[in-house]
Amino acid sequence: MSQAPRKISILGSTGSVGTSTVKVLQAQSEPYNVQVLTANSNVTLLAEQAKMLNASHAVIADAALYDDLKSILSGTNIKVSAGETALHEAAAIPADWIMAAIVGMAGLKPLMIALEQGTTVAIANKEPLVAAGELVLKTAAGHGATILPIDSEHNAVFQVFERTNKEAIERIILTASGGPFRTKLLAALRDVTPDQALAHPNWSMGDKISIDSATMMNKALEVIEAHYLFDLPASQIDVLVHPQSIIHSMVEYHDGSILAQMGAADMCTPITNALGWPKRLKTPGKKLDFKTMNRFDFEPVDDQKFPAVQTAYACLKSGQAACIAMNAANEAAVAAFLNHKIAFLDIHAYVSEGLKIDMPSTLSSLDDIVAFDNFVRAQVESCMMNSSSSSIMKS
Ligand code: NAD
Ligand code: MG
Repeated sequence: MSQAPRKISILGSTGSVGTSTVKVLQAQSEPYNVQVLTANSNVTLLAEQAKMLNASHAVIADAALYDDLKSILSGTNIKVSAGETALHEAAAIPADWIMAAIVGMAGLKPLMIALEQGTTVAIANKEPLVAAGELVLKTAAGHGATILPIDSEHNAVFQVFERTNKEAIERIILTASGGPFRTKLLAALRDVTPDQALAHPNWSMGDKISIDSATMMNKALEVIEAHYLFDLPASQIDVLVHPQSIIHSMVEYHDGSILAQMGAADMCTPITNALGWPKRLKTPGKKLDFKTMNRFDFEPVDDQKFPAVQTAYACLKSGQAACIAMNAANEAAVAAFLNHKIAFLDIHAYVSEGLKIDMPSTLSSLDDIVAFDNFVRAQVESCMMNSSSSSIMKS
């Protein structure tokens, strides 16, 4: 007896991971029923995707865009809704596989609601794991949901991590490309522009994560993400710069064996892996060609130039409040940098400012976490408003 097509939802379908997910779905021979597609403001692309995939629901988070979406989708059977509540309701629509690909803490509530369905949730959206990892995992376990990591490093570890042999694991090694400024001197980073920072050498990604890669805050977030996803202490999570982005991460076992996952720098691979898991499907993405590769390089992180990674280790040691503060301050600072309000090196300076805030000792509920996240953002934003146009790094 043939099985009914799987029901699929994509939260954040218009973004970089979202559009790769659409591409992966379209390349499959197996039929899917697309339930929900969501976006923040890109009405045109959302409507196009919804028509192409014959989705049941299209949700735009910006409530002011309801009429626009409604009019493009008039004459179709696609249900249209808008606003934050609609986004939350959409995350609760039953699906067998949900991609969480919203960027930043905006994705936390939809992710929690998706997990409460007790279904399979592929998580690209790393910020909620950083700020609320324990709650996310507890919610998944409490509702019987399965989390599949999409971040390429975590998906790589997931593929070579022997769950039944966890005590034999020495450490995991998260690889990092080093970003567009790996070879620049620290002094040269003072004046880099958003456009320069957005130009990642290996990966094509959304703006926020591209800036995070340039500061290496992305790897900082990933250390915390790995701590939660693989239940490992900071002492068993290492970071190694590998500029070619071919080895996406490794697991070292006590017997000296190191298992690595390799592939092209293309998010279609981890997405295809998660869509097929535990089977393996065909990727429509790039494949590795060993004939065109002539070397694998590795180097340690330059902590002077990229202090974010050490900041993440300090936050893990300090506790959840520090992880929330690091992430919230970074989101606020990255937005300001993209808007030409602060300089590149100020991003980490404002993260440090955020970490000076008094840390609450208990943050058990979702509301507590969201409230503290908002508080840190507001503090950092007011700190940015109050500092002169000359950067705080220069003062
Ligand atoms: P993106 O900016 O390209 O896309 C973000 C998506 O979220 C869009 O669909 C956008 O409409 C939606 N969105 C943004 N703000 C929203 C809001 N306030 N409410 C509702 N929806 C909102 O981002 P991306 O690069 O695809 O990254 C998505 C997430 O995946 C991030 O957390 C990122 O760190 C993680 N990730 C991305 C990549 C990558 O290659 N892009 C790799 C690994 C992990
Ligand atoms: Mg990554």
